[in-house]
Amino acid sequence: MASKKKQSGSQSAIFPGSFDPLTNGHLDIIERTLSIFDKIILAILNHPEKRSLFSVSEREALIRAETKRFGRRVVVKSFSGLLVDFAKEVRSNVIIRGLRAISDYDYEAQMALMNKGLYSDIETLFLIAREDNSYISSSIVKQVALLGGDISKFVPSEVNRAVRAKVRERKR
Ligand code: ADP
Repeated sequence: MASKKKQSGSQSAIFPGSFDPLTNGHLDIIERTLSIFDKIILAILNHPEKRSLFSVSEREALIRAETKRFGRRVVVKSFSGLLVDFAKEVRSNVIIRGLRAISDYDYEAQMALMNKGLYSDIETLFLIAREDNSYISSSIVKQVALLGGDISKFVPSEVNRAVRAKVRERKR
């Protein structure tokens, strides 16, 4: 049986998201993706209508700082518009998403099917969140920090520092 020709650039995978901010959950997915693929392209969704704590360039800088140890294997970019168009642009046909709970499934399945409908070569791969990370989300981390809680267990150190600075700024 003839095997399907491997896509050029299939050694890289795209990890799209808001990353507002990067958490230990995201970092775990990044590390695990790098155990399968040569390169991961973090694609920060630039969503002008969505209120965010960090600007896209601040998020980019934080991700770069926290993934420095992986060298060129981690590429950080931002995108607006369709993810499948971004995938074609960076010549990758793999999208990585993390699944925390069954409640993530409906939305993720819908997105994966829609992306497949738009671009049949695209594949979405799901990695199940590590048990001890499965309750961590950027939004809950932000809520806790704004209420004065300690988030140091849930986010990398640079992110913790940056979130605390933002909280102080907001209180001024
Ligand atoms: P989005 O707005 O696209 O969901 P996020 O930054 O919240 O952006 O998440 C990006 C990706 O990271 C999603 O696939 C999400 O499921 C995954 N993710 C978020 N938090 C965790 C976590 N704690 N463990 C594993 N995956 C996670």
